[in-house]
Amino acid sequence: MELTKRQEEIIRIVKAEGPITGEHIADKLELTRATLRPDLAILTMSGLLEARPRVGYFYSGKSTQTIMAERLARIKVDDIKSLPVIISEKRFVYDSIVTMFTEDVGTLFVVDENGCLEGAVSRKDLLKITIGGGDFRKMPVGMVMTRMPNIVCTSPEETVFIAARKLIIHQVDALPVVVKTRLDGDREVLKVVGRFTKTNITRLFVELIEGH
Ligand code: ADP
Repeated sequence: MELTKRQEEIIRIVKAEGPITGEHIADKLELTRATLRPDLAILTMSGLLEARPRVGYFYSGKSTQTIMAERLARIKVDDIKSLPVIISEKRFVYDSIVTMFTEDVGTLFVVDENGCLEGAVSRKDLLKITIGGGDFRKMPVGMVMTRMPNIVCTSPEETVFIAARKLIIHQVDALPVVVKTRLDGDREVLKVVGRFTKTNITRLFVELIEGH
């Protein structure tokens, strides 16, 4: 976060004299309280200053890096996930190749008739099959996918940090975002509600730097 000259000046005063009221900071800078209000709001929202009613402002002692890291650690998968791109396990390898092209994704999640997670199929799985020379127009996608319970998943409430770590540790490009539900009264299954990929993280990175 880049501070203006005035904001830096405010930080310097609060560091030296805090807790200090907005009135007093304004006096020291020979400005009105109203002029300072937006700067004080930015500095408190960013976590650099803390404000206590009837006491005043004091310096939080946190570096901008610490504040940024704390913010990043709070972002949830639900905040940045994409829509899931799914295919029925009854469809053929050929259909999954077409879906990858039309949906412009590198991983499809394979689901049963209830939309519950059965597996994942990636570009390399499809390349392997075509190299192997099988008839991919007749081969069900279920034959080439990675199957549950070997799918690494995330959930809407999981932090982006934990989900990103899963991508690295398990060396995959995408995680299905799932929620647990019970079918037929009892059977616990995973419904696919989204897709979390390296692209989501790249987009977040760019947006954070652009200041969204
Ligand atoms: P690529 O095909 O570009 O290498 P990945 O690295 O994501 O794509 O996939 C590597 C392997 O891992 C493939 O066999 C794929 O089926 C499997 N896979 C993909 N996503 C997952 C996941 N979330 N959990 C477990 N396995 C996965």
